[in-house]
Amino acid sequence: MRIQAAIAIFFIMLASGLQSQTPNDPGAIRIMRSGAQPSRQAPSEHFTGTVRVDPLFQATAPARASGSLITFEPGARTAWHTHPLGQILIVTAGTGRVQRWGDPVEEIHQGDVVWIPPGQKHWHGAAPNSSMAHIAIVEQLDGKSVEWMEKVSNAQYANLPSASEGVTPMTQEPSAAQKLMGDIDPKLAELTDNVLFGDVWERPGLSKRDRSLITVAALIAMNRPEQLRSHLRLARRNGVTQDEIVEVITQLAFYAGWPNAVNAVAVAREVFQEK
Ligand code: MN
Repeated sequence: MRIQAAIAIFFIMLASGLQSQTPNDPGAIRIMRSGAQPSRQAPSEHFTGTVRVDPLFQATAPARASGSLITFEPGARTAWHTHPLGQILIVTAGTGRVQRWGDPVEEIHQGDVVWIPPGQKHWHGAAPNSSMAHIAIVEQLDGKSVEWMEKVSNAQYANLPSASEGVTPMTQEPSAAQKLMGDIDPKLAELTDNVLFGDVWERPGLSKRDRSLITVAALIAMNRPEQLRSHLRLARRNGVTQDEIVEVITQLAFYAGWPNAVNAVAVAREVFQEK
């Protein structure tokens, strides 16, 4: 008798508890606590570079929207892909890039909201020298929310004209390399644009400023005044100061030889005098 009473009380307590707390109550508000869902590395099959995915919410039928927070390290990006019902990106931190196939690359910043229409081939990711995080919201169609395609090449990421050949009319100005040698050696011009500047110079492992400093030092050491001239201009654009260039020349006199340094001073003078 006493056991029966205890069982009855147990069930009454359980029922009253269920009324307010059961996860089986579809009408109850659900709070998904911060940190409760583990973050994961985005699969390298569909992403380039380091990308972290923090799931925010899954689609709960009949609703079909799901959302996640995606964080891209500098230079990291998605592969090309489409969404059957489109996608909303809300940039929550940093600076990034987004591009539809055939269109120019657009820069996106914290606070920007991006609408990707259904079925449009595109990619999104961080800028070369800045990380970027966005909340991505997609809707499923027949259980699918994304169709993955090929990866975004370094040349496409750098948005060089030849990278989107056959997609957009090439109205861009010829590059410096094309002007310099495109008539005689178009392959070397293409390699300069797509591999050297489109890939190596865009790699996130070194800043553009540091790459400029290294290149200038190498050209001084090898006594290459013609190439040094254009690289000194590029170095100034990449944030190397006049004083730093002078320091490099002075130091290299000891390592690469006095005549090299003296020649470099002459080239530097010309570049410094340019507007
Ligand atoms: Mn997308």
